[in-house]
Amino acid sequence: METETLLASNDNGSFYDSYYDISSWFDRVSSNAGVVQRETLRRILELNHGVEYLKKWLGDIDVTEMDACEIESVYTSLVPLVSHADLEPYIQRIADGDTSPILTQHAITTLSLSSGTTEGRQKFVPFTRHSSQTTLQIFRLAAAYRSRVYPTRDGGRILEFIYSSKRFKTKGGLTAGTATTHYFASEEFKIKQEKTKSFTCSPREVISSGDYKQTTYCHLLLGLFFRDEVEFITSTFAYGIVQAFASFEELWKEICKDIKEGNVSSRITLPKMRKAVLDIVKPDPFLASKIEAVCEDLQDSDWYGLVPKLWPNAKYVYSIMTGSMQPYLKKLRHHAGSLPLVSAEYGSTESWIGVNLDPSLPPENVTFAVIPTFSYFEFIPLYRQNQDSSSGNFDFIEDEPVPLSQVKVGQEYEIVLTTFTGLYRYRLGDVVEVSGFHNGTPKLNFICRRKLILAVNIDKNTEKDLQLVVERGSQLLSNHRAELVDFTSSAELVHQPGHYVIYWEIKGEVEERVLCDCCREMDASFVDHGYVVSRRTNSIGPLELCIVERGTFKKILDYFIGKGAALSQFKTPRCTSDRMLLRILDLCTVKRFRSTAYS
Ligand code: AMP
Repeated sequence: METETLLASNDNGSFYDSYYDISSWFDRVSSNAGVVQRETLRRILELNHGVEYLKKWLGDIDVTEMDACEIESVYTSLVPLVSHADLEPYIQRIADGDTSPILTQHAITTLSLSSGTTEGRQKFVPFTRHSSQTTLQIFRLAAAYRSRVYPTRDGGRILEFIYSSKRFKTKGGLTAGTATTHYFASEEFKIKQEKTKSFTCSPREVISSGDYKQTTYCHLLLGLFFRDEVEFITSTFAYGIVQAFASFEELWKEICKDIKEGNVSSRITLPKMRKAVLDIVKPDPFLASKIEAVCEDLQDSDWYGLVPKLWPNAKYVYSIMTGSMQPYLKKLRHHAGSLPLVSAEYGSTESWIGVNLDPSLPPENVTFAVIPTFSYFEFIPLYRQNQDSSSGNFDFIEDEPVPLSQVKVGQEYEIVLTTFTGLYRYRLGDVVEVSGFHNGTPKLNFICRRKLILAVNIDKNTEKDLQLVVERGSQLLSNHRAELVDFTSSAELVHQPGHYVIYWEIKGEVEERVLCDCCREMDASFVDHGYVVSRRTNSIGPLELCIVERGTFKKILDYFIGKGAALSQFKTPRCTSDRMLLRILDLCTVKRFRSTAYS
């Protein structure tokens, strides 16, 4: 059967040897996306036939006897849509060592920590070999499309700011850690380097040290040691690159000294990592003085164009730059200078979703073509509420979910996943818009996390709304040689009327008058009708802008890393009610402003 062949690559990520093979495979599966999706669902249900969770909903119905269309209709009518909380009791039993077939027939031995659907508390989701294989597959597919526009030299190196977090054992003895951590430790990570003929600068001991500050130092040191071989610079999320270069501005002299002497700074204390790096770095005074001269020049231009000047053969900077990473674009562009920014794939710990087929597009315009073999995808149509409605708590009005083959261009949807790893009709919590099609598969524009982040009264604002408002407010800083480093927010409900608090860390000196203007501009820029009306009637108080001291967001990162997060998957929470976080923010606040808009 044709679809069997289409799906064959799923069994083995290294199935296709060349870029040509993998792109033509994708052309075939995307042309038949509807059929491939039904077949993917059939395979998931066949593989997990009889597991406790499916039995609960499907009873004794044997879907393996049905044709693919019938399976789709029976499955979606009998199995309910769920959130992580609904599956948590099942996953917890797996974590505690119950080896009966609960969600999958294959025993789950590894769990990933996902941040995808929540802020704050991390959640376990099953991780299997299939997860690493699809990671390999999407990376190779993306590399194939990138190579058409920005070819790189075979055998070159990648400066990858990647970080494994510590893995630990659950009560039942399963290995737990972030999905990226599992991937970096997998065979597929090695295969990817061989198949894409690009090799990471840092050895495994650096990636997996578990101390992100020491790892960043060694990535930078090795990246510069292999300077002429580096073909591109990357991290999982753009934040990783931004934080690495912020550290570089402080560390460059020490790094140059290490290159000159073939040594490793005493700040690297982890013995395995020290040894691994010392085995690579050899004294190179000529290279060290060349880098020193470049850095001295760069310092005078506020590090503009740092990437092409330090890595003269780099072709581009590559990372996830969409969604909550968009606020870092300005900084990335500053560092990338003339080099293109290439926005990376769309996925989550639960499943990879789509690939960027047009690497030359600026990150603001990037879309992701859904890969129909990775999971079975459904889409819940979402409609923005009538502006005058104050009914209910829902941010959007929902319609019945539709399969991938029935999505419409211009419509917004929440994504629902059925995965090979045992998640059935699982609401991911991401809002996307269908912007078009690649062959028969939809291209998605990432809009935001579904969850409302700022709401005091009848107002409703998402992460995207906040992002736009902060962008407007911070534009005023650029006229004053200052820049926004990072931001977050909270809804202050203790004192009446409640109000929004936005925290900014800025680099550069700005007069109070300007910050007052920024505060007013942000307050006036929320367009949500509920907010505007509440502000006019003062049932929501004036927006408060808190300026925090330099280094505050680094403290926030450290706080999350301390709680087990990995830098590779870290995303600054754009709104928080976490008491510890609010405490850090309050202690670090050096100036406060209240908006005069609406007064
Ligand atoms: P995690 O659970 O830590 O793996 O994070 C997954 C979440 O990150 C997704 O559900 C999205 O909200 C976000 N994300 C992942 N890839 C992208 C992307 N390319 N653009 C925007 N947001 C993304």
